Amino acid sequence: MPLEINIKHLENGPKTYQGEIELEDLNLDTQDELIRPCTGLDYDFTAEILDKNILLRGRIKLGFQFECARCLTPFEKATEITHWSQLIPFTGDEAPPLDNDCIDLTPVLREDMLLSLPQHPLCAKDCRGIDGTPEKSPDPQSSQTEVEKKPSAWSALDELHLE
Ligand SMILES: [Zn+2]
Repeated sequence: MPLEINIKHLENGPKTYQGEIELEDLNLDTQDELIRPCTGLDYDFTAEILDKNILLRGRIKLGFQFECARCLTPFEKATEITHWSQLIPFTGDEAPPLDNDCIDLTPVLREDMLLSLPQHPLCAKDCRGIDGTPEKSPDPQSSQTEVEKKPSAWSALDELHLE
């Protein structure tokens, strides 16, 4: 089921929403062949009216099948946003369409999930790539200086890892 909330239901106070948007309702395209969603989107949040907005706070989670950017090994991992929040206006130009007082939140959750994805998924933080050769100098004492003098393309990738 797509996730719709009725704003009239929020007039008496905050309401909690828990459930799952199934993969076929999510319509999620990562535009990246290394990353494919493999579960529905799990959500658990409260919604409340704040001025002319709906404030959403909670967590959202989705399982993905990744292919490691270094060694190409496929692996599955759930991406979770544990302190998720969104402010959605329900009047004005930026408001999503209202249908019988209902707002479809599916696109909002989908976009936030996409934004949280890693640019270079790695099977392990210290993945050594296809040949498995450690990028080390023969002398362990000088290895640190070696890396500092000659930053490889991988050292930039080392900064990025899955949570
Ligand atoms: Zn790897």
